[in-house]
Amino acid sequence: MTDTLTAFAQGKIDQLAAASLLRTIQPTRRMAGVLVERGGRTLVSFSCNDYLGLSHHPEVKAAAMAAVETYGTGAGASRLVTGDHPLFSELEARLATLKGTEAACIFGSGYLANTGIIPTFVGPGDLILVDELAHACIWTGAKLSQAEVVVFRHNDVADLAAKLAEGRTGAPKALVATDGVFSMDGDIAPLDEISRVCRDHDAWLLVDDAHGLGVVGDGSGTARMFPDARVDLQMGTLSKAIGGYGAYVCATQPVIDFIKTRTRTVVYSTGLPPANAAAAIAALDVMAREPERIAAPIARARRLTTALNLPPAESAVVPIILGEAETALAAARDLETKGLLVVPIRPPTVPAGTARLRLAFSSEHTDEQIDQLVEAVRPWLPR
Ligand SMILES: *Cc1c(COP(=O)(O)O)cnc(C)c1O
Repeated sequence: MTDTLTAFAQGKIDQLAAASLLRTIQPTRRMAGVLVERGGRTLVSFSCNDYLGLSHHPEVKAAAMAAVETYGTGAGASRLVTGDHPLFSELEARLATLKGTEAACIFGSGYLANTGIIPTFVGPGDLILVDELAHACIWTGAKLSQAEVVVFRHNDVADLAAKLAEGRTGAPKALVATDGVFSMDGDIAPLDEISRVCRDHDAWLLVDDAHGLGVVGDGSGTARMFPDARVDLQMGTLSKAIGGYGAYVCATQPVIDFIKTRTRTVVYSTGLPPANAAAAIAALDVMAREPERIAAPIARARRLTTALNLPPAESAVVPIILGEAETALAAARDLETKGLLVVPIRPPTVPAGTARLRLAFSSEHTDEQIDQLVEAVRPWLPR
């Protein structure tokens, strides 16, 4: 007889499998560049967020290895306990400069950043407005805050303005949270207009730019593409274009000082391994030196959108929306037989009826690989 916990889990798994919604983690070896080994075959991956190939860059790897030799593998405890590591303050200064803010705070991961930052600034009685397609960790942070959570339509500034006007009265504080580049859609939030609406209603603006840094605008991310936008909390990760692990938020000095004393995922969570900070600093060095590397992922993405007559890519992410989960699964299987790894994205990661292939482009993809992808995707395009 199985125990009730195991029976519960098995029942859920059976339900998900029947609906083509079961996810399993496939043994896969990432190699240098865009190649992966899976099931004894080498595939070209279009599913990885290592947009600039920096996770395997010789300089970035060397910086990480040198940091391990000098400082060991772990931070030992929360930064408030062990004290600040010089690599942490160096990385924070670099990020603040890049984003044009007074200060920055690094986190263990993007998920930890948003789940920690949001409840630090809004609580019960306050208001938080979230774009309907914002990343899962923004929703988790919003829920944890116990503020009233209001959803606004994707990139719909009029809807945001109406809902903010309605909810703002009575709420002592209001926060608007959105992705800068949307992780599953690849489009960009209109931060100039969003920021204006926020200012009109004295609402603070948090932008999660995990997919913007190193890719859009001058490489510093989405905010600088909108010179008039004021983004109070510029959050992003070190896990995508930076090629490593960890996250950050850039803001004014008092905002950062408050986060460092109050945010639970900083105070009660171990600091980043020093090697991750060293790798991120080296990655920022490479980015600063090689603007052509930053321009490459969007150029690669546009090669595909042009060939397939799709709207021009705005970022390194291009969705091919297929509708039903089974269709996305079948398309991904077909592409895999052609040597291409494209992971199907299904609900609840994306809304029901919008299962898709999410294509992610890297500076390391060749034109030939993209042309191969174009031909493989073409028969799946909805008519
Ligand atoms: C990946 C991602 C995160 C989470 O970052 P991790 O460092 O992987 O935890 C947060 N927000 C967005 C928009 C992301 O794409």
